[in-house]
Amino acid sequence: MEQTATQVPTPWGFGFEFYLLDEDGLVDSPQLQGSFDSETLRLADQSIPVERILAVGGAEEDTLLVVLDDQGREATIQISVSAEVRHQLVLGVRRISAGDAYREVVCPYCESVIPIYGLAETRQVYCCYCDTIATLAVKPPRGEHRLRLCDQCCYYACPQNFTIFYFWFLLIVWGWDFDRIRVCHSCMRLEAWRMLWKNAIFVIGLPFALFQLVRAYRGGRLSAPDYPGLDDANAAAKRGEWDVASSGYEAILSTLPAAAGVRYNQAMCFVLAGESGNAAPLLEAALADCSNYEPAASVLLRVYQRLGRDEELSNLKIQWPDLPDSE
Ligand SMILES: [Zn+2]
Ligand SMILES: [Zn+2]
Repeated sequence: MEQTATQVPTPWGFGFEFYLLDEDGLVDSPQLQGSFDSETLRLADQSIPVERILAVGGAEEDTLLVVLDDQGREATIQISVSAEVRHQLVLGVRRISAGDAYREVVCPYCESVIPIYGLAETRQVYCCYCDTIATLAVKPPRGEHRLRLCDQCCYYACPQNFTIFYFWFLLIVWGWDFDRIRVCHSCMRLEAWRMLWKNAIFVIGLPFALFQLVRAYRGGRLSAPDYPGLDDANAAAKRGEWDVASSGYEAILSTLPAAAGVRYNQAMCFVLAGESGNAAPLLEAALADCSNYEPAASVLLRVYQRLGRDEELSNLKIQWPDLPDSE
């Protein structure tokens, strides 16, 4: 996996079916045909140049379009479309309003087209489809394609499938428990130790438990060799040993030109320690490495709120209009 992400413009446009709604939000037409592309929104026989579309609002299938009419006055058109079409309309309007600031990057790891609106070009790009962070232009760090946020601990790590296996017997009755989980290696360590001690009683499951224990301690380094010590730093962070964790992250950062995910982990140590003032510059640095890394922007928004940095907060919200207010 050494290909780099490429930036490509792609033509766009789509057709859809819709109903007109009356002022009370009730269906007021038969099913009609519409289309939307970079120049025109067509609603049955009505054509609206894109520069006259001011906003797309509403919720779920009820969609409110705010447009300028022929006299330059604001007018609203209420239609019913599927939630997917509504989402595409919102994205289309954002894309048009971003103008030259809109760009697309093809993820080198899942080949999805990542839309980016008005954010700076940085050395890394975040793929919201496969949750990876890809380093652009240069040879990416080894194992980068395996790293993403762990669903269990929420740290940037290398989640993998692990099998949990317990064997037991009582006199003539015997049985086993079997499960599969997808977690990072530092999350697996606790589970692997538990599996080892419980299987030690009945011996038969012991080799398998030992194998998973070794995998939990060694697997992260083998999977992502250019991020040595990441699992140890994450494990220290989970124990609340912030200094140990932070120096582990620093050691990795000193070897990589850009590492938004590692900076994010380091920032989370300060967030969880209640030191928002120290977390803010690390999250800003994560966004300087990867301008569209939404997890960092999302935490930074909360950090700015806690610190009462209203000016930075409003600037961030302009760049990230879809981030929910959490406090
Ligand atoms: Zn991807
Ligand atoms: Zn984890």
